Amino acid sequence: MVNNAGCLFCRIAAGEIPARKVYEDDDVYAFHDINPQAPTHILVIPRKHIPSLDDIDAIDAPVVGTVVARAAQLARDLQLTSEGYRVVFNTGAAAGQTVFHIHLHLLGGRNFGWPPG
Ligand code: AMP
Ligand code: ZN
Repeated sequence: MVNNAGCLFCRIAAGEIPARKVYEDDDVYAFHDINPQAPTHILVIPRKHIPSLDDIDAIDAPVVGTVVARAAQLARDLQLTSEGYRVVFNTGAAAGQTVFHIHLHLLGGRNFGWPPG
C-alpha cells in the first residue's frame, strides 16, 4: 500500500491537509509536530504508508534507513548536534503511538531524561 486515503499522515504528505513543512523529497516528508514536546519537534515520515515499525520487512527496511538518515541531516541543518537530540519511533498503542503511519519524532532544544516516561 503506497498511500492510504484515510490516513492523516498520507494526506499531509500529499498536501491535502496543511502542515508546517520542514523538508520533502520523493521518499520522505518532514513537518513540525502540532503539539511540540520540545523546542524543536519534527516528524519525519516516509511517503509510503507503513503503519508502524512492527510492519517493517526486508523490502521496507531501506525506507526506515532513509527516514533516519534524513532526520540526522535535519538535526545537522538545525544545529541540534552539539547539544544532542533524541529520535523516537513510538510503536504500538501501549508505547504511545496514536497515528498509524510510521513516523520518527526528532526532538531537540532541551535536555531529555532517561528512562523515558
Ligand atoms: P505518536 O503519538 O507517536 O503516534 O505521534 C503522533 C504525533 O502526531 C503526535 O506527537 C501529535 O502531536 C502529532 N500530530 C497529530 N496530528 C497532527 C497534525 N495534523 N499535524 C502535525 N502533527 C500532528
Ligand atoms: Zn499513511
